[in-house]
Amino acid sequence: MSQTIQSVRGMNDILPGEAEFWELFEETVRSWLKSYGYRPVRLPIVEPTPLFKRAIGEVTDIVEKEMYSFIDSLNGEPLTLRPEGTAGCVRAVIQHKLAAQHPQRLYYVGQMFRHERPQKGRYRQFNQVGVESFGFSGPDVDAEQILMGARLWDDLGLNGISLQLNSLGQPDERAKHRADLIGYFEKYADQLDEEAKRRLYTNPLRILDSKNPAMQEMISGAPKLMDHLGTQSMAHFEGVQQVLRDAGLPYAINPRLVRGLDYYNLTVFEWVTEQLGAQGTVCAGGRYDGLVEQLGGKPMPACGFAMGVERLVTLIRESGGEPVLEGIDVYLVHQGDAASRLAPRVAEGLRDQGIDVLFHCGGGGFKSQMRKADASGASFAVIIGDDEANAGEVTLKPLRANGDKPNEQKRVSVDQVADEIMNSFLDWEEA
Ligand code: ATP
Ligand code: MG
Repeated sequence: MSQTIQSVRGMNDILPGEAEFWELFEETVRSWLKSYGYRPVRLPIVEPTPLFKRAIGEVTDIVEKEMYSFIDSLNGEPLTLRPEGTAGCVRAVIQHKLAAQHPQRLYYVGQMFRHERPQKGRYRQFNQVGVESFGFSGPDVDAEQILMGARLWDDLGLNGISLQLNSLGQPDERAKHRADLIGYFEKYADQLDEEAKRRLYTNPLRILDSKNPAMQEMISGAPKLMDHLGTQSMAHFEGVQQVLRDAGLPYAINPRLVRGLDYYNLTVFEWVTEQLGAQGTVCAGGRYDGLVEQLGGKPMPACGFAMGVERLVTLIRESGGEPVLEGIDVYLVHQGDAASRLAPRVAEGLRDQGIDVLFHCGGGGFKSQMRKADASGASFAVIIGDDEANAGEVTLKPLRANGDKPNEQKRVSVDQVADEIMNSFLDWEEA
């Protein structure tokens, strides 16, 4: 026998049993997005590599070491599996002049790819729900996006997800802070780890993002960007906070929250939980007013966030959330030549009436088919033998308890079976 082929490391199959949680999550997410007026976009998984280099920044974890980049062997084009969704969304907005007339609220759901060390909550293929707005410059939309998060955690029945907030100001304010940071870290040059040394002159802000425990003390003493913010930036930040306070939504200001991508300005935020171990950020985002222009579009303010679906689904499962796994309505049992010709028509007829049917495939005797019907979780078995088929009837057998009412099987004409089932469902609901 030849060796079996396994999935790529860090890229998971989501099997039945777990996939239902995903569907429940996605359904909740879709109606939540609709309630805020966000509209879906579906974007390619592969984009030209320069898109990510320009959008995310050359000196970032993602672009330096996490991208699945390759050359299209047919035409030599450099391509990358998207590591995040904002860059592609901005590209699409520019390409299709989406927000030229009116501001846009958009969302997408799908796979992202990053070559990271796989561990709980960190995979090489993972899924994000991304939410982006284009054309709004005030703090109102930032605040709305934050309130959205709070509502979703509530809709999903999740507790213990807290909000961290910061402002990155504007590029000129960051430039002053950058100079201060370099000066500060130069004093500690001998204590910087390799990564920090490398970033000291290219992207010192990123050093604040370091997860190295040995560097934490030095980082907490570093100059704060907040001290460099001018009146306008402060007013924007205050505007966001005002809405949050009015909504009674608690938050913590975290001056070290700088985000792993270069394109942010003003508001940045993360939703974090302690229930997932080291990978505690379930949702992150902020404002990126410069990105549309940076990617060649007309300047346009924008703001968005992305959440990690794997981490949220894990939270839902660990918090005991259960998707209502409704059993199928009918298991259709059939044996005999006439029966097996009638059976598919009965099944389709039931489905015409909105009744879900698991059609027995693979033959076998009544006894073994009935065992499968019992195990299927169906509410009814519809049983067709040649005897029934010749009479234009089926046997309808309830498979679940019905209080103290007798739950007997009965013969019903083919035309009546859907009505019988519907009436029983109504009876059961009343009971
Ligand atoms: P982290 O600091 O955990 O690496 P990040 O800042 O790189 O996160 P973002 O680019 O902001 O993450 O992505 C938004 C969200 O997507 C994260 O908060 C997280 O929930 C999820 N996410 C990011 N990378 C992964 C991954 N490799 N596996 C699973 N989920 C991920
Ligand atoms: Mg990361």
